[in-house]
Amino acid sequence: MAILVTGGAGYIGSHTVAELLAHKEEVVVMDNLRTGHAEALQGVKFYEGDIRDRSVLDRIFGENEIEAVIHFAASSLVGESVSEPLAYYENNLLASHTLVSAMVAHDVKKIVFSSTAATYGEPKSIPILETDPTEPTSPYGETKLAMEKMFRWCDGAYGLKSISLRYFNAAGAHMDGHIGEDHTPESHLIPIILQVALGQREHIGIFGDDYATADGTCIRDYIHVMDLANAHWRALEYLRKENASNVFNLGNGTGFSVNEVIETARKVTNHPIPAKVSPRRAGDPAVLIASSEKAQTVLGWKPQWGDLETIIESAWKWHQSHPNGFAAK
Ligand code: UDP
Repeated sequence: MAILVTGGAGYIGSHTVAELLAHKEEVVVMDNLRTGHAEALQGVKFYEGDIRDRSVLDRIFGENEIEAVIHFAASSLVGESVSEPLAYYENNLLASHTLVSAMVAHDVKKIVFSSTAATYGEPKSIPILETDPTEPTSPYGETKLAMEKMFRWCDGAYGLKSISLRYFNAAGAHMDGHIGEDHTPESHLIPIILQVALGQREHIGIFGDDYATADGTCIRDYIHVMDLANAHWRALEYLRKENASNVFNLGNGTGFSVNEVIETARKVTNHPIPAKVSPRRAGDPAVLIASSEKAQTVLGWKPQWGDLETIIESAWKWHQSHPNGFAAK
């Protein structure tokens, strides 16, 4: 039986596909290639299509024996979601409704879901626990939380078992360097810093240095994309063994400030990486750090590449060998 990975050509999706293949899983990928890259996929059956299109889903479930779905396909930018909330309700919530309806119709009862720390909003305490209040401050976080809830109601009604994985800041690239992060336009801190080191940008803009943190810049919990990928495989194994729904945070449990990330990147790249303070970005909480104790205890997950230098080194290797991402060098 195969695992259907929606959004499997995207950043976290493609790394998870590689991890599944390393565990000898059979993988079918569906992606509309709007932000994903077909070049990121090797050794899998690929359907180009949109999960809002029920006919493609019916074809995939009809042509393959799908055991479980790992669901990445979604829009994922906080700022964009604030200016285009309806697009987020459509691409995230409505699209997932179509996916889950097809799963229920085809009797597929397991889903691992790509959720986010943005479901918490402004944290009340650090580190953040799964039991903390969820009060999203953006349509992105709101739609992801609504999807989590929809899956949980579907457990009671149809026996659909879901694992929601709430990621903190995904970063880094596959350790063998064949896949990595490639967004257009790029909005994430580490790849932007590395674009400066590559000479593609003049400086990195620091979004605010007057937060209530030691150096005034925002603190985030950066987690290696391959550690995230491994957690998906473990979540799948948990569904197989326990057949129960659950939710887990995925982070390292350690925070780094924007200044610390820039400083580490200077060390890794040996480039001065000029930085300029610019205004705060709307909706940025000062500190986001995960407690991943539950994932460690229940899933037996342990981040292997948690060290910030290792994370940035793997990203740097990818960016140097693919300065234009998956596009022709
Ligand atoms: N950030 C920054 N400059 C940039 C991009 C990001 O200072 O050009 C900061 C951002 O304000 C946040 C952190 O870096 O505090 C991580 O941002 P990113 O967009 O990578 O991830 P997010 O935390 O939004 O998921």
